[in-house]
Amino acid sequence: MDIDWAGMWFLSYYGISIGWAWSSRNHFSGHIRDGSNNILYSSFLINCNHCFGCISLRNKSYCIFNKQYTKEEYEIQIAKIITHMQSTGEWWEFFHPSLSPFGYNETVAQEYFPLDKIDDGWWTTEDVRLSSFSYLSSLGYKRSTYNADPSLPEWVQTIERKNYTDEERTALLQEDNLETKVFLCSVSARPYRLQKAEIEFYRKYRLPIPDKHPDIRHEERMKLRPGRTLFLRTCDYCNKEMLSVYQSDHEWKVYCEECYQKEVYS
Ligand SMILES: [Zn+2]
Repeated sequence: MDIDWAGMWFLSYYGISIGWAWSSRNHFSGHIRDGSNNILYSSFLINCNHCFGCISLRNKSYCIFNKQYTKEEYEIQIAKIITHMQSTGEWWEFFHPSLSPFGYNETVAQEYFPLDKIDDGWWTTEDVRLSSFSYLSSLGYKRSTYNADPSLPEWVQTIERKNYTDEERTALLQEDNLETKVFLCSVSARPYRLQKAEIEFYRKYRLPIPDKHPDIRHEERMKLRPGRTLFLRTCDYCNKEMLSVYQSDHEWKVYCEECYQKEVYS
């Protein structure tokens, strides 16, 4: 239950990428492989049994925080740890969000359940409760204001990307040492560089070089994807009721699966 990327395992709860050989009873853990069993709150274990809070171990049993215990000691310590975690409310829950070194807004969660700034400086909703940052904040999520952009020394030559035509952007490709130049994004003014392989790709296919920061390009690609809410509407061809990510007033024609298949393949 509540597992992403699952192999041949069973009786497990809350995990990511667990076991391609038979594995069982691995909870609140990630990347637990090859016949590992009874693992709690651990990551990157291969063929391990009875481990708690461990990382990057192979062929080990009865370890806590990567320290070896005897079976008897392990069972005594684990009972103590579980009792303690029950008293703090941590037991049988995934790692607390406050342990994440990243802000919510820096993770892919932001792309699926975006939080936008509102006037009071906090965040507002799409219309799900989860999108309210004050709610997330009460659960321990952080918001990051980290800025990865370097401050550019004065001697750095920058290339403003505003007002370039496609022809000019293609012509720029012929310039020498493009990979050493710093470009300024036409939308965000953030500096970015082009990698050598990237430049060769643009040259090979005669593509204009991008005039936006990679983060802005990523944002724009994400905006092309439909929202993750399903609306009840009717098929634009047969009027059958169906669920779609496009609301009935969307500008596009939306067909049910049957009508779509007929239209496209017959
Ligand atoms: Zn239809």
